[in-house]
Amino acid sequence: MKRLFFLCACLILLAGTVDAQAAPKHVVIGTGALTGVYYPVGGAISSMMNKQRKQHRFRTTVESTDGSLFNINALMSGDIDFGIVQADLQHQAYKGFNHWAGAPQSKLRAVFALHPEIVTILAAADKNIKTVTDLKGKTVNIGQPGSGQRSNAMALLEVAGIDVDEGLEAEGFEPDEAVVMLQDKRIDAYFYTVGHPNELVRKVVAGSRALNFVAVPDEFTIELIRQHPFYVLASIPVKHYPGVENKKNTPSYGVKATLCTSADVADKVVYALTKEIFANLETFRSLHPALEVLTRENMLEGLSAPLHPGAEQYYREAGLL
Ligand code: GLU
Repeated sequence: MKRLFFLCACLILLAGTVDAQAAPKHVVIGTGALTGVYYPVGGAISSMMNKQRKQHRFRTTVESTDGSLFNINALMSGDIDFGIVQADLQHQAYKGFNHWAGAPQSKLRAVFALHPEIVTILAAADKNIKTVTDLKGKTVNIGQPGSGQRSNAMALLEVAGIDVDEGLEAEGFEPDEAVVMLQDKRIDAYFYTVGHPNELVRKVVAGSRALNFVAVPDEFTIELIRQHPFYVLASIPVKHYPGVENKKNTPSYGVKATLCTSADVADKVVYALTKEIFANLETFRSLHPALEVLTRENMLEGLSAPLHPGAEQYYREAGLL
């Protein structure tokens, strides 16, 4: 009898240890620059999780980062548990293309899709940059290393036949530095792949230097869509940006933001987060205007890495798969 009691006690202790390993006390979501959309969206997820913190038994915090590419690498090294990542970069990382050529990130896992983002190019009206090819010879901020916009800028410039080293003066600043530089006449244009409406874009177009959105010709977008299944034709809605020179929505292309994780993150953590957001989708949608378009169905579209088993378990229970 004594032995049985001892064995039971050991099993309980062991179960406790295994459980503690599997479920961290602190979960980190990697986002983007403080002034982007990723950061407040990550904040919305973490605030919803923390309201139920007692039940989940872990605390969720948000980290401002360089963006998509950085988040994928930080997920793979275990520095963060969740990361917001553009769908095109999710695909490239999992398959081993582009920045990850020959090194597929096989532990990358998808959780759900978020808001659509648009490749947004803002230029000084005094530089007369109406379309992508007008960027030739100009000083252009293509975005900080680690960001999604830098990756999109390089691909688009290549399709437009502009050499990033020879064809223009490329800078690598964060969006919030870029807006100051554009108004200070230190750069002529900048790239930003971001959800709309965006507060930073709203503020910069209201500044004293007149600005316009730069059109991406359909022929370039079609070529990019041919290369990449995750791009869609999209246009930048000018109604959100009083003061901008454009009178009509500007043609460009879009990609979804997605929430990713790693195969190493515990199923119960991913399950808890997925369930919390899907079961309270109305609340989540109300936390940022870019999230208003989300539906349970479109949140499962645009994912190319395998679903994390914790997310999959919830989608099966909820009849979404
Ligand atoms: N799409 C950008 C990136 O992947 C981030 C945009 C944002 O911060 O909202 O780096």
